Amino acid sequence: MHNNQKEHLYKILVIGDLGVGKTSIIKRYVHQTYSTNYRATIGVDFALKVLNWDSETVRLQLWDIAGQERFGNMTRVYYREAMGAFIVFDVTRPATFEAVSKWKEDLDSKLILSNGQSIATVLLANKCDQNRDFLTNNGLKMDQYCRENGFVGWFETSAKENVNINDAANFLVKHIIASE
Ligand code: GDP
Ligand code: MG
Repeated sequence: MHNNQKEHLYKILVIGDLGVGKTSIIKRYVHQTYSTNYRATIGVDFALKVLNWDSETVRLQLWDIAGQERFGNMTRVYYREAMGAFIVFDVTRPATFEAVSKWKEDLDSKLILSNGQSIATVLLANKCDQNRDFLTNNGLKMDQYCRENGFVGWFETSAKENVNINDAANFLVKHIIASE
């Protein structure tokens, strides 16, 4: 019998306001490291994470942005051919949560799958190690927020303490594979 092991390559966007922890989440997920100071190089950074998924191989190409966050939007070219996205906010800074819907609208307005749907997007409430007030006050409303704003789900995460990052990525991959 021939080997019919399948390989998937997925471009995954990681977007959200400056300083919310996008780079830290990627470094934690891909390199198992954490630092309080990642230099913001201008441009786009890539990191590759390889997963064994049942008997298949999933390669996640994570796209980090640096320097363009302050404009609150990206170009169509940047979003092109992405299969999934994380939109990240910082639970200690409510303004970064207010920016989430703006990021989602920007993404959905510039990228639509061939089936007419928007790409699977997971919301990450990062820095949950620091302050739980946001989640105490809003945790119950988050599921509804996700339904109303087209997120497939949300996770509270900490890049610092390594909370939920693997789970969030697996959840996103599951949605991408199911939609293919
Ligand atoms: P980016 O601009 O979205 O890429 O954010 P960075 O990854 O550069 O993180 C901005 C700052 O927040 C850095 O000082 C990080 O160390 C810090 N940070 C990132 N994730 C966490 C986290 O989960 N918990 C805490 N306490 N700090 C974090
Ligand atoms: Mg960064």
